[in-house]
Amino acid sequence: MQKLLYFALIFTLLLSGCSLKEANANSHKEDMPAANSKMTMKMSKVSPMIKKIPVFEPHAMIAISSITFDSTRAVLSTVERKSDVSEINYHIWRIADGKEGIKMFTSTQKENDFSFLFDIKEFSGARGEYQVEAYEVNEDGTQVLLAKSSLTFQQHVPILMYHAIDEYNGVGLKDLFVTPANFEAQMSYLKDKGYTLLTFERWDEVNKVNKPILVTFDDGMKNNLNAFRILQELKDDQFQPAATEYVIAGWIDSGPYRLSTEDIKEMMNSGIFSIQSHTMSHADLPEITNYEQELNASKEKIEQITGKPVFAIAYPYGHFNDQVVEETKKYYKFATTTKPGQFIEKGQSDEFLQMRRVRISNSTTINQFAALVEPR
Ligand SMILES: [Zn+2]
Repeated sequence: MQKLLYFALIFTLLLSGCSLKEANANSHKEDMPAANSKMTMKMSKVSPMIKKIPVFEPHAMIAISSITFDSTRAVLSTVERKSDVSEINYHIWRIADGKEGIKMFTSTQKENDFSFLFDIKEFSGARGEYQVEAYEVNEDGTQVLLAKSSLTFQQHVPILMYHAIDEYNGVGLKDLFVTPANFEAQMSYLKDKGYTLLTFERWDEVNKVNKPILVTFDDGMKNNLNAFRILQELKDDQFQPAATEYVIAGWIDSGPYRLSTEDIKEMMNSGIFSIQSHTMSHADLPEITNYEQELNASKEKIEQITGKPVFAIAYPYGHFNDQVVEETKKYYKFATTTKPGQFIEKGQSDEFLQMRRVRISNSTTINQFAALVEPR
């Protein structure tokens, strides 16, 4: 009962002058496919005529039942109605799909505040942020916008972890090497399947885009220029590659196997790479005491090179403990581990300082890759 009453009320405040935008957007309704006959809810029988009103004022509020990270549905209702309404039409679309993906659901349950059980299976189970509008349906079939809101079903985000992008030459751990051919096949797969490559700078978009994914590299190796070249080649109008390089700040310019200052600038200036930290000396953080040097000095050194904020770190060896998290949060907003799995925001404390990653290794086949990145 308490839960039902615990409405996440998001009142949509209305932009004066937005009525014109609404009218324009809704004028495409006639083009809507009359699909979804399999839906359990009663659907609109006819294309609604949208009544144009000069200024949008809220005439009600959309109440939404509480949503947890693994919810797949929510109860919507329309409360605080200022007029006597007999039927409410909910217009719902997923932000990643845009208004072309809009669907309409009608509720006549006045005694229940026009409640409606919204299930993401009506949208093929796609998670992410949805927009909702509630319309009053008049006797003549016209509709008047009463209220707007939004709700989010958290998306799972694979954060891929790579190290070397090169042929294995017998030195070092073979599993840390992904061949350029395999890397190219993996990135092409993401491109072909409509993934959206993000960096931590764009984290607030994870629920607004299709198939969000992060591509990260640890250790700042020179052979990561192979990945840089491949990502540049895949770039086109549709596919905007993005990746994160975690560099070991004290090892920049330290020989032929490490990225140089010039490499880092070139990668960053391409718009593809975000350069973040992997500490100053690849320290095993639970074993040290000089956090200022490993966490803060490394951050400042990289920022001096790139001129951009460094706010994400990869823990060397994936090692961390409670104290490491406490120290890390002084300087960083995001920290990734080597714990396997896709990340999903659960609302837990410090969850962004112990993010899971999906390890891609020398032996990962393209079929295994596809399974690892598949939207959950
Ligand atoms: Zn490392």
